[in-house]
Amino acid sequence: MTDTEHATLPRVSHWINGKVVASTSGKSRPVFNPATGRQTKTVDVASPEELEMAVAAAKAAFPAWRATSLSRRADTMFRIRNAFDAHREEIGALITAEHGKVLSDSQGELARGIENIEYACGVPQLQKGEFSEQVSTGVDVYSIRQPLGVVAGITPFNFPAMVPMWMFGNAIATGNTFILKPSTTDPSVSVYLAQLMKEAGLPDGVFNVLQGDRVAVAGLTDHPDIAAVSVVASTPTAKRIYETGSKAGKRVQALGGAKNHMIVLPDADIGLTADAAVSAGYGSAGERCMAIATMVTVGDIHEPLIEAIKERLPQVVIGDGTEPDSLMGPLVTEQHRDKVAAYIESGEKDGATIVADGREHPLYKESDGFFLGVSLITDVTPEMACYKDEIFGPVLTVVHVDTYEEAVELTNSHEFGNGTAIFTRDGGAARQFQFDVDAGMVGINVPIPVPVSYYSFGGWRASLFGDTHMYGPEGVKFYTKGKVVTSRWPDPATSEINLGFPRTK
Ligand code: NAD
Repeated sequence: MTDTEHATLPRVSHWINGKVVASTSGKSRPVFNPATGRQTKTVDVASPEELEMAVAAAKAAFPAWRATSLSRRADTMFRIRNAFDAHREEIGALITAEHGKVLSDSQGELARGIENIEYACGVPQLQKGEFSEQVSTGVDVYSIRQPLGVVAGITPFNFPAMVPMWMFGNAIATGNTFILKPSTTDPSVSVYLAQLMKEAGLPDGVFNVLQGDRVAVAGLTDHPDIAAVSVVASTPTAKRIYETGSKAGKRVQALGGAKNHMIVLPDADIGLTADAAVSAGYGSAGERCMAIATMVTVGDIHEPLIEAIKERLPQVVIGDGTEPDSLMGPLVTEQHRDKVAAYIESGEKDGATIVADGREHPLYKESDGFFLGVSLITDVTPEMACYKDEIFGPVLTVVHVDTYEEAVELTNSHEFGNGTAIFTRDGGAARQFQFDVDAGMVGINVPIPVPVSYYSFGGWRASLFGDTHMYGPEGVKFYTKGKVVTSRWPDPATSEINLGFPRTK
């Protein structure tokens, strides 16, 4: 693409203080349609001055927004929910155009994101404190939860609508002002959501979007006027942001990568398990932090289950996400597609068996889009890179073990502990698994156990840094700080001097 062509493409800019603000940094990044491989837009990359502008807008909006009554804030959240609901089609189309996932999957992402806004509509109930009357004679104690101030969210490419909603719903409902730093890969949704929120009545400056790269992230993580950072990213980035943000005195919740194991016991229903493995392994081209990346087959179910999965692979129709027949779209970028394909090669070199090879799909060979077919790799062992690393693509690796104990030990020994699932018809075994497994989210015959919005989302081990999980009750706790008031309205007639440490009477 020539410089002139580049300059004439639509531009995705910041959203600061209730309006689009074009960057003057002179830096931008290309935005592609992954299905065609063509650049469709450019996205601005923030300068340090633009970062300051966003922080200043959020800081200026905070006093009035935190003083806004709970009923007004709840009303605004309801209006935002309705605005998102009324524009599902447009939001979904924007997701598919820049991420590549099929339209039905974009709608699924959006539905789960809107659930988080619906949860935040209950802020008058969620932000309630507690009250203890007469803790001492004539003395009452009560607790209140107050917002932190300006908070920032740094989000990944794979859920450009849902993951920001995990964060900003609870953050703004509880009285904070918010700066979103979306992925540069699919940035348009962020600005569209901001426009809808303004139209829904959210005051200017309460929600801002700063487009940018690691410089913007470093600036937000270090900024003295930012009280808390939520991040969802690959593990090295999540860990770094957790460390630098904590060092700068901020609250940080940092969700990282995953390699979710699906344990299949010998008594599992083969058809149901095969359907689940295909859906959770290849849905959204495997670009989900809750995708099933590794299946652990226990005992003699291995062979018939692999056969059942193989039979189902041709049903995974791959194509442009806007085509009604497509079940799986392209990967997000060419570089990522090539990285995923390299894991198939590395598995082969390491001695695994490539039962299905995504590189043989015609769209991988012929299309300009970033397509890769589905891959199934068996005879995988724990030392192989295709087992150890998060591949984040349509590659299902299979490890075969003899016993339940080996399956649990394998799962618990992996670097990541995000989600996991067990497939069995034995309720006792499932309950034991829930007790034994070292992961934050567990599915029992449910391959992608993403908690509903009134629970909280988070993994263990290298899948999360920080103390609080995201959204739900822990999200509300993260975005508020507790204050306890001890109160007495004494009768002046009974007052006296007492230098002892306060005791209950
Ligand atoms: P990424 O780490 O490349 O980027 C995530 C965000 O961090 C983006 O906004 C990006 O601009 C920023 N970033 C990237 N590199 C940075 C750096 N060096 N310094 C500072 N900021 C940086 O992740 P991605 O490729 O967009 O998303 C996929 C990853 O996110 C996967 O690892 C996936 O498992 C993870 N993820 C985790 C969850 C979860 O809930 N645990 C959910 C979704 C995605």
